[in-house]
Amino acid sequence: MNNLRLAVLEGNRKTIVRVDHLAIGEGFTVIAGPCSVENEKQTIETAVAVKKAGADALRGGAFKPRSSPYAFQGLGLKGLKILKKAKEETGLPIVTEVVDSRDVSWMCEYADILQIGARNIQNFSLLKEVGKARKPVLLKRGMNSTIEEWLNCAEYILDGGNADVILCERGIRTHEKYTRYTLDLSAVPAIKELSHLPILVDPSHATGKVSLIPSMCLAAVAAGADGILVEVHINPEEALCDKEQSLTPGQFKEVMTRLRALQVFMSGS
Ligand code: PEP
Ligand code: MN
Repeated sequence: MNNLRLAVLEGNRKTIVRVDHLAIGEGFTVIAGPCSVENEKQTIETAVAVKKAGADALRGGAFKPRSSPYAFQGLGLKGLKILKKAKEETGLPIVTEVVDSRDVSWMCEYADILQIGARNIQNFSLLKEVGKARKPVLLKRGMNSTIEEWLNCAEYILDGGNADVILCERGIRTHEKYTRYTLDLSAVPAIKELSHLPILVDPSHATGKVSLIPSMCLAAVAAGADGILVEVHINPEEALCDKEQSLTPGQFKEVMTRLRALQVFMSGS
């Protein structure tokens, strides 16, 4: 990790990223919501449901970096306006992905946290641009990135002058095919010994399967993660994106109950 300057751990200093009432890196933060913003009803209903179950922030993509050019690409500005409305209704801060460096400055009006997706992690012009932004950045791990490469991507953002970087482990490519990717939970304690940055876990994209997500949410707590990012859809059957890995609000509520109980157990109180 010779080239790292700003991302490395020095002493006990931990980065706490503050967004509205949230302090990411302190306690356990739950970011939940649909893969993509499809329409106002779906987004607001999902936002209300995840808020009620105890989520701390709403996720939802308005720009979707899809593997196929023929797949739903997101609603763009219209989607961002819907997210803004969802925030007005629920008070939940908004996490949304930016895919193009030309969109960074104007998207800051709608996003509380700018997400950089796994497919864009080494888009260095995008990293430099979010480095200049005055909004926190949630940096997913690339599906093919080593921990060192990932931290170097964070370094680009930090070096650009933006200290508010949140890492997110979302699974890496291995030879395993049953799961969508392989959730590298060892990245959580590894990041903790290498860096002061907070780290979240995304069990949705890592497993690609609703049946596996609850266990991996709990495993994220046990591994010492600072939170999770999880996909929830009001009606997964009809989701335009990632339907196989979207929890229903009921499933999410159940996860939240178990997760909060595990947190209490782990804190020893
Ligand atoms: C997402 O969060 O919807 C997403 C596309 O994630 P990733 O970049 O990790 O695939
Ligand atoms: Mn998704």
